[in-house]
Amino acid sequence: MGMVCNMVNRRNLLCGMGALPLLGARSLWAGTTHQLGRHEIYSVSDGNLVLPGSLFFDGLPEEELGSILASAGVARDQVTPPCNLTLLKQEDRLVLFDAGAGPAFMPSAGTVLDSLGTLGIAAEDITHVIFTHAHPDHLWGILDDFDEPVFYQAEHMIAETEWRYWTDPNTVDSIGAQRASFAVGAARRLQAVADQMTFFKDGDEVLSGVRAHQTPGHTPGHTSFEIRDGGQALLVGGDAIGNHHVAFARPDWASGADQDPDLGAQTRTRLLDQLVTDDIALLGFHLPDGGLGRVERTDTAYRFIPEGT
Ligand SMILES: [Zn+2]
Repeated sequence: MGMVCNMVNRRNLLCGMGALPLLGARSLWAGTTHQLGRHEIYSVSDGNLVLPGSLFFDGLPEEELGSILASAGVARDQVTPPCNLTLLKQEDRLVLFDAGAGPAFMPSAGTVLDSLGTLGIAAEDITHVIFTHAHPDHLWGILDDFDEPVFYQAEHMIAETEWRYWTDPNTVDSIGAQRASFAVGAARRLQAVADQMTFFKDGDEVLSGVRAHQTPGHTPGHTSFEIRDGGQALLVGGDAIGNHHVAFARPDWASGADQDPDLGAQTRTRLLDQLVTDDIALLGFHLPDGGLGRVERTDTAYRFIPEGT
């Protein structure tokens, strides 16, 4: 049923099963391009998530929350954040930051291979996959329906702290019932690509012109990456600044999406200030319009200005 793909290799099944009937409902655009000196940067869509607002908003002051959400046009009961992977083209490298959600997480997400296809890029062309963190929408795309590595030619890179946390057998018990499936899913997938994985630490230059900055709180080893050429820089922010409404208007508010909400708020507050002060562009995984833009100070906090607006 619905098998339109030619079964030259089993990976092609991905585009025949499950994914195809939903294509019309998904965002397939391969996003914005940003030239940064010798680096070419693309935002590549992996679709979007559909999540209850309670995950983010419960416990926040409702009145102020209401006016922030109203001015951003975001509903209180359900949010549908986009998922933007970053693709970095260097002379001899095609680097993907995060792997997307894959086929097993949510029907509205997992479209990155289609988006890469619109750029003429196949999974086997990717030379490096660098993880911001190991939540499902960032990690689960490394395996296909048959549990085989999707980016099988690529070196995979993750912060040592993040690897240790998700491969620790105690994490499934300590993470809380709500995220227990994240722990099981991450451990299984990370083990499956262990041969392809290398590790970095805070401050390391992971590839030429790409530096790792630990931005913990969302997860213990969450990492953002500064891509720099001379005076120009862009931060691959991951989920350290997780949305364009509350995270910018009230970065100090604890977010239920962060595993350590207080540390997440500290990290977010520091990062927003740094992005403005040092004039660094941002590509946020769950920010709108491809997620690529700039941070601007307002009278009371910050706002996100997508590139091209
Ligand atoms: Zn995420």
